[in-house]
Amino acid sequence: MQVLVLGAGVVGVTSAWYLAKAGHEVTVIDRQVDVALETSYANAGQISPGYSAPWAGPGIPLKAIKWLMQDLAPFMINGKEVDPQTLSWMTKMLTNCTEGAYHVNKARMMRLAEYSRDCFIDLRNELDINYDQRTKGTLQVFRTQKQVDASKKDISVLQECGVNFQVLDTEGCVEHEPALANVKEKIVGGLRLPGDETGDCFKFNNALADECKKLGVKFVMKTDILSINREGDKIVDVSTSRGKMTADSYLVAMGSYSTPILAEIDVKVPVYPIKGYSLTLPIVDAGKAPTSTVMDETYKVAVTRFDDRIRVGGTAEIASYNKELQEKRRANVEFVVKDLFPGGGDIEHAEFWTGLRPMTPDGTPILGETKYSNLFLNTGHGTLGWTMSLGSGKYVADVISQQKTDIDPEGLSIARYA
Ligand SMILES: Cc1cc2nc3c(=O)[nH]c(=O)nc-3n(C[C@H](O)[C@H](O)[C@H](O)COP(=O)(O)OP(=O)(O)OC[C@H]3O[C@@H](n4cnc5c(N)ncnc54)[C@H](O)[C@@H]3O)c2cc1C
Repeated sequence: MQVLVLGAGVVGVTSAWYLAKAGHEVTVIDRQVDVALETSYANAGQISPGYSAPWAGPGIPLKAIKWLMQDLAPFMINGKEVDPQTLSWMTKMLTNCTEGAYHVNKARMMRLAEYSRDCFIDLRNELDINYDQRTKGTLQVFRTQKQVDASKKDISVLQECGVNFQVLDTEGCVEHEPALANVKEKIVGGLRLPGDETGDCFKFNNALADECKKLGVKFVMKTDILSINREGDKIVDVSTSRGKMTADSYLVAMGSYSTPILAEIDVKVPVYPIKGYSLTLPIVDAGKAPTSTVMDETYKVAVTRFDDRIRVGGTAEIASYNKELQEKRRANVEFVVKDLFPGGGDIEHAEFWTGLRPMTPDGTPILGETKYSNLFLNTGHGTLGWTMSLGSGKYVADVISQQKTDIDPEGLSIARYA
């Protein structure tokens, strides 16, 4: 079967990999010169099934109001960009902030993320690929006793989901992240998830794209996808800046940009761009750098070790599709890396970046069939899209191939919004 994959971010490339392995003739189209140059370019570097949870949860509306008034805020709204799509998405998110919805959504995300982690392990056993990967877990650090106490709720969810974890005191945090010894008076405790992994998503995407090419996948880059064209209950072709392209099946993996193009053919996906920022610093003193990912609970910022760089990422900004790199937003991520790992990286030579997380209001991505018999979705991966990418790619490839999926499909498709 010929399959056109629309989008060459981490979700499109992982889908192409599994589709090609299933024996399909796969072409990937993207507007960029190469793969992973939009949201998958400089994320925070965590593969964290243990932290796969929706942002919408009980208590979040109140917290969000407090964050809006905070300096170095993890959440902000750019009032100028608030439009009807923004308001509709925020309303849907608020309706998911109940205890009941949180548990349903979290269970769906965990099912997919745990499966995805198994896919990462299988992939590394199969391929010799390098993406600065480390399997040293992630450490969430608490600066106040109140945060330690509040983490008991997260711990009970981890227990329920069977996720391996360690509760650490200050010394325990330093044992796993020795550079924190320099700032240990700032840390009250931590929660470590030893099963989590880290790495560079951009390098991963490029390495996997090379493997895809070996299986015959074609990448058509520098090509704008203009519309998806239908006739009755089928997609007939895709209009691009290079003309029309046809296939037997079509997979939309366009991240935040899936929403407008799908709306034109009356497929309504509530995927909204939540803007985030990162800094990438060359390491100047490895002894002062993290060894894995350290998440600062106070500022909701993650600091990750690559081989010779530190990546620090976070911040959730509601700004619609505005991708302007706002210097004033740099403060939050810059503060955390300087505060926890002083002298570890060269801040003067840091690369500052922004990307749009494709977020659904309930946190779970949207995978699988649509009302068009040959149109499939793999979008809406939000805050932990790399974490869920391989599992989503394999799942969607199985759906397209009409194979039984390895995980229960409950609640993963667009039908849940009906
Ligand atoms: C600051 C930040 C930190 C993050 N940290 C983590 C983390 O630590 N761990 C984790 O798992 N996830 C993290 N994420 C989330 C993760 O990066 C995303 O969920 C993931 O990259 C989404 O991948 P995607 O392929 O769906 O989207 P994208 O990477 O955006 O890919 C979509 C592709 O579609 C193409 N496209 C779109 N429209 C068109 C068009 N009209 N024509 C042609 N091509 C088009 C784009 O060029 C792009 O290549 C983070 C995100 C941000 C912003």
